Amino acid sequence: MPERAGQDRVVIVGAGLSGLTAAHRIVARARMLRRPTEVVVLEAKDRIGGAIWTDHRDGFTLEGGADSFITNKPWGMDLCRELGLSDQLMGTDEQHRRSFVVRDGRLLPVPEGFVLMAPNRLGPILTTPTISIRGKLRMLMDLVIPRGAPDTDESLASFVRRRLGREALERLVQPLVGGIYTADPAELSLKATLPQFQQMERDHRSLILAGMRQARTSGSTDRHASGARYGLFVTLADGMATLPQTLANGLPPDCLRLSTPVRKICKPELGSALWRVEPLDGPPLEASSVIVSTEAYSAARLLDGVDSELALHLRAIPYASSAVVNIAYRRDQIAHPLDGFGVVVPKIEGRSILAVSFTSIKFPSRAPVGTVLMRVFIGGATQPELFELDDASILGIVHYELGELLGARGAPLLEVVGRHPRAMPQYTLGHLDRVAAVRRRQARHPRLILCGNAFDGVGVPDCIRAAIAAADTAIAALVEPAQPAAA
Ligand SMILES: Cc1cc2nc3c(=O)[nH]c(=O)nc-3n(C[C@H](O)[C@H](O)[C@H](O)COP(=O)(O)OP(=O)(O)OC[C@H]3O[C@@H](n4cnc5c(N)ncnc54)[C@H](O)[C@@H]3O)c2cc1C
Repeated sequence: MPERAGQDRVVIVGAGLSGLTAAHRIVARARMLRRPTEVVVLEAKDRIGGAIWTDHRDGFTLEGGADSFITNKPWGMDLCRELGLSDQLMGTDEQHRRSFVVRDGRLLPVPEGFVLMAPNRLGPILTTPTISIRGKLRMLMDLVIPRGAPDTDESLASFVRRRLGREALERLVQPLVGGIYTADPAELSLKATLPQFQQMERDHRSLILAGMRQARTSGSTDRHASGARYGLFVTLADGMATLPQTLANGLPPDCLRLSTPVRKICKPELGSALWRVEPLDGPPLEASSVIVSTEAYSAARLLDGVDSELALHLRAIPYASSAVVNIAYRRDQIAHPLDGFGVVVPKIEGRSILAVSFTSIKFPSRAPVGTVLMRVFIGGATQPELFELDDASILGIVHYELGELLGARGAPLLEVVGRHPRAMPQYTLGHLDRVAAVRRRQARHPRLILCGNAFDGVGVPDCIRAAIAAADTAIAALVEPAQPAAA
């Protein structure tokens, strides 16, 4: 038998950032509207946060997943303010806001002003040793190449090859952008991942001209940054897990049920308006609305019985797995000056790591004085076989690569392998059509709401925005009486 009548209940499946943000929003709105509402969050794991977790060891702050978020999308900052976390927000260190890229086994700086896919200055492109003379001349052709066909779903790789040439793709864009999505740019949809670059081409024709004009008009203080616009990123002083933890702390007692995997969701039966959510163990729960914030393939499993076509569309969203190794050394064990925020590794270099983030250079308070904390990324869509290795083999790769690239010597002070199995949705070609198909099918099921990083953005602020929209839909449904399902 269901636990209790569920007219005033919203069940949320998944206690990652998306599920917790939705829960927080519903609780806050229901209080404001003086609407008695019970929110229940069911989480399969024995911890909250999903892809976000933080560990504190021996004075180091270890981030398992996200280590910062961008501030030019306002939803992350807004939520932190609302939760009273403003005084804990911390920007990146002002020194060394640049990245390196590996060429022939050596670390070379990403040209100043080259941000993800577009240079905002010409000088550094002309003088960089990262690109050959031939490659530079090809990049400059961007100034005269006409626009591509409008509104096509072009892969990121094809777009960059067309505008800046193969070398810029292989030597700069593949490692920089591939690292963010742990993805293969030949598969990624530009429209679904970085539509602003398609817009730059539409508005200015040339990416170089667009980058230069934008840098001039915004008067960006980050004009010299390279790799990412590091001045736009913030983190939380005690680690990113503060965000899901503060959301969870603000929920009513008994709202959050950990170690409670959901096995099935059933649609309202005839004459009822209530959804039924069945945990693997324990009694089913009835609810007027259900928010599913899990990975898309997990949502597909839960919803197979509700709508097999919806499940099919959800299953079509591919995922990649990656490992993140937090590793710390004494400063004197590393020969490289570490005068940047990290290094990305082009696939054509044939190495076994995707990137290294110099965490304690980016955020000095993450490690004790005289030590260095780094995060090494392994696997992703381009090297899935490496994710399958055991921890000892992964650490062996990390030691070897850090020795070769940074001159790391001797035993690390600390090393922790974190794994993200099938955690990163891949917004491949056709992603926007797949999401539209999901939304069309979802619309047939009032009060069944899907959110999470599979659909409209993987970044922290994107997930927050989508979760708020999901919560608002659930709130709107709570204030209108539900119609029982008809024959
Ligand atoms: C390695 C890595 C690094 C990243 N770095 C950054 C970064 O620096 N900046 C940034 O902005 N973004 C970053 N991201 C992206 C961002 O962290 C994620 O997109 C976001 O945290 C996803 O939150 P979510 O709640 O949508 O999904 P998830 O965190 O995946 O949460 C889904 C939850 O659903 C639960 N669940 C699944 N199935 C069930 C079930 N049947 N029953 C109950 N519960 C279930 C899961 O256990 C999980 O807790 C990173 C992601 C990864 C993987």
